[in-house]
Amino acid sequence: MAPGFKKVIIVGAGPAGQLLGLLLAKYGIPTTIVEQSTDLDANPRATHYGPPAMKILNLAGVGEDLRTRGFAPDTVAWRQRDGTFITGISHGILKDDPERITALPLNQLGKLLLEHGKKQPLLEYLFNHRVTAIGQDELQAWVDVEHAETKETSRMTADYIVGCDGANSIVRRSLFGDWEFPGKTWDEQVIATNVYYDFAKYGYSDANFIVGPEHWHMASKITKDGMWRVSYGQLPALKLEEVTEQLPEKFRTMFPGHPGPDQYKLVSMSPYRIHQRLAKQMRVGRFLLAADAAHLCNPFGGLGLTGGIVDVGGLYECLVGIYDNKADSDILDVYSRVRREKYQQIIDPMSSDNLKRMFPADPDNVMETDEFFKVCKKAETDTELRLKMIKDSHNMSYDFTQHYR
Ligand SMILES: Cc1cc2nc3c(=O)[nH]c(=O)nc-3n(C[C@H](O)[C@H](O)[C@H](O)COP(=O)(O)OP(=O)(O)OC[C@H]3O[C@@H](n4cnc5c(N)ncnc54)[C@H](O)[C@@H]3O)c2cc1C
Repeated sequence: MAPGFKKVIIVGAGPAGQLLGLLLAKYGIPTTIVEQSTDLDANPRATHYGPPAMKILNLAGVGEDLRTRGFAPDTVAWRQRDGTFITGISHGILKDDPERITALPLNQLGKLLLEHGKKQPLLEYLFNHRVTAIGQDELQAWVDVEHAETKETSRMTADYIVGCDGANSIVRRSLFGDWEFPGKTWDEQVIATNVYYDFAKYGYSDANFIVGPEHWHMASKITKDGMWRVSYGQLPALKLEEVTEQLPEKFRTMFPGHPGPDQYKLVSMSPYRIHQRLAKQMRVGRFLLAADAAHLCNPFGGLGLTGGIVDVGGLYECLVGIYDNKADSDILDVYSRVRREKYQQIIDPMSSDNLKRMFPADPDNVMETDEFFKVCKKAETDTELRLKMIKDSHNMSYDFTQHYR
């Protein structure tokens, strides 16, 4: 039987777009990724990929390289301002489980995906091509693209087009309007830094949420050679120059040992406005949305891309079903409904709670007031409960093959 369709276009060579392209091409579905930039994004963003994301990365065949280049953090801890341990979850219990949470800076994950993608004959990358407009009719969908240097424009068509074009997605804005991305923007801005400093010397765990009214932050080891991600909140939103100017004092106050600038090596720094937002739909006809183009959450707890990668895994199953004539195109409505529900029921509340937990009303008594901390404390000695808490992250996944004919 002839395949259910011929071709997919993905807008955006971020991690979500690249991963979807890799999965589809490996399956035998001709796919083109259209990316506006010359190169992959190198800003300090995602670092940790949770179990449901690792499952999809393993499926795409990149898990092993990811584990080799990155590392599997052990304990995620919550600490008081002075470093005192409140509670924590040790992932060491999973040993070499390929779905164990893994850390690797996003730019390195991007390179890894590109290496794997370039080996796929059915996957075409078009860098330097910016999508400027979209359209569709009963037979096909299209994107108008402009070449970054020549400014030449052309129209590319496909059976399905997936917007993996990030928070400012032109696909989403074209489908619903520029300002239609329901949700909220937090007052806090987050400053993400990559820095070499020996936190472990001061007894820090691999990942640490430091709670407190003013200097709340997260400090996590993100590379084998000892680079850490320190993300802290700042209120009200400051300009970049002010953030840069205040950074040495902020580091001196926050870091254990209170170092001066000659005692750490700052690699990068980037401020972010943070949001909780969800697109009205993740399917409109032949257009689909996935990852940041479809939903945003604050970075505390690393649920942004993990949720985006789970979208990718779901969309892959749906498109494969249609391609193999095992599902009709209505399965894409199920994709839209289920992925939106998973965001509303799991990703949005969990990531919001993670952020609010950073600045509790009564920081000295969090063990008495925070139910999550109470469960974590119990799980420190209850292995089964700890395993359940880790495995529960798979609740954001969904098996779309159950809708195959
Ligand atoms: C500080 C910080 C820490 C984070 N930490 C984590 C973490 O630990 N774990 C986690 O899971 N998530 C984390 N996240 C979230 C994560 O970084 C994002 O969810 C993820 O990068 C989104 O990937 P994406 O592929 O959807 O979009 P993007 O990475 O934004 O990629 C979109 C791509 O589309 C391209 N594009 C845009 N418009 C067009 C156009 N018109 N034409 C062609 N191409 C276009 C862009 O150039 C870009 O390459 C963090 C985020 C921040 C800010």
